[in-house]
Amino acid sequence: MNSYDSELVRSILVKAKYALVPSEDEADVVLLNTCAIREHAHQKVYNRVHEIHQKRRSGHKDTTSQGHKPLIGILGCMATNLRTELLGNRRLDIDFIAGPDSYKRLPALIRECLGDEGRGTRDERRKIFDVTLSEFETYSDVYPRRERGVNAWLAVMRGCNNFCTFCVVPYTRGRERSRSVENVVEETRQLAADGFKQVTLLGQNVNSYHCEDRDFADLLEAVSGVEGIERVRFTSPHPKDFPDKLLEVVARNPKVCKHIHLPLQSGSNRILGLMDRTYTREEFTALADKIRRLIPGVALSTDVIVGFCTETDAEFEETLAVLRAVNFDSAFTFKYSERKGTIAGRKFKDDVPEAIKTERIVRLNELQKEISLKKNRAHIGKTHEILLENKGSKHSPEVLYGRADGNHLVTLDGGGWALGESVKVRVIDASPNVLKGVAIS
Ligand code: SAH
Ligand code: SF4
Repeated sequence: MNSYDSELVRSILVKAKYALVPSEDEADVVLLNTCAIREHAHQKVYNRVHEIHQKRRSGHKDTTSQGHKPLIGILGCMATNLRTELLGNRRLDIDFIAGPDSYKRLPALIRECLGDEGRGTRDERRKIFDVTLSEFETYSDVYPRRERGVNAWLAVMRGCNNFCTFCVVPYTRGRERSRSVENVVEETRQLAADGFKQVTLLGQNVNSYHCEDRDFADLLEAVSGVEGIERVRFTSPHPKDFPDKLLEVVARNPKVCKHIHLPLQSGSNRILGLMDRTYTREEFTALADKIRRLIPGVALSTDVIVGFCTETDAEFEETLAVLRAVNFDSAFTFKYSERKGTIAGRKFKDDVPEAIKTERIVRLNELQKEISLKKNRAHIGKTHEILLENKGSKHSPEVLYGRADGNHLVTLDGGGWALGESVKVRVIDASPNVLKGVAIS
């Protein structure tokens, strides 16, 4: 979502006649787009701001702005979440902050920072901010300035109404709002005309998308009808919004990839209750079974948090048990990290010691690695159509990277294929994270 938002910001600034430069050393304005969802992003941001000033002070040969102090702006969730801290920190040399719903105001904020006629006459100690959250802003009238490529991100809704107790998103990105089906389809047509082959629909809770009487299943159907787009993916969904209608669209529409991300978070019903996830372990596993029944061959991935407030060893074991039972193809795993302003941050104690969180995440990762390896090995000898998305690594510049329909990463050695091409491959080897293929077409 942040990559996508940065593309929006580029577009807004270019429209306001700003030029993008290839390196921050040459920039008059540097924007840091931040995330507040996990870990201590602020320390990273502080270090980054310091580094930018330091580098500029020491002078960089080959740059026109040697020694010239850039304006620095902080964007994104952290801007909303840590407004007071950012504004109050006198040692943090930044000029302005803008939240995720304020990007259209960026040209005005920059002008304000520069003061009258851009001569830098403003009071330098006064940081300028706009972190107002909107109930309506979807940037549906901004065509993001994307790098050319194979996959394009497209946010179809913003914000979230769920208030899972651990999560900062509803506070930093505001309430849920969706773009119209027609508007999303129009942008997808433009993407196809620009040469993109795959579109990934984005939203904090993407499958709760609804606009007037159209739901996410309707949107998927409409987007996949766009000629030139070969694949449609979506992330991140919530398990509560998977009606049969949506699963049937995924099952029968050949352009919609057979991969569903199904965030579990915990396998303990007590912890799921504390997280306010609105499903039980039993309901979750029943949904996973149903998805596999309705969409044969579907790949499932998940998100898991370890060490949420009061989680016991036995409850963590229940999470491991669900992982074993569902057999996800892959999992993103996180140690619980308390977020300022969330319900858990206000009401519960972050009482699982860091060492225990680490122990649990190590065990969880070991188990998932085993499962992913077993699942990936089962692909050996099978044929997949892969869409080539990237080329070259440090060790082998010729290697091509593509994705199978189920989102598995597949490598292919050379062979004169171009990025954006679909190639039929037979899988000849597998590791927990990657399949190796040879072309058969
Ligand atoms: N909307 C999606 C999740 C989006 S956030 C859903 O409801 O499932 C992406 C992931 O970050 C979450 O699934 C969760 O696993 C993780 N996450 C969010 N807040 C966190 C926190 N405070 N500590 C640790 N992990 C967190
Ligand atoms: Fe956060 Fe996802 Fe819950 Fe929304 S549904 S509050 S984004 S975890």
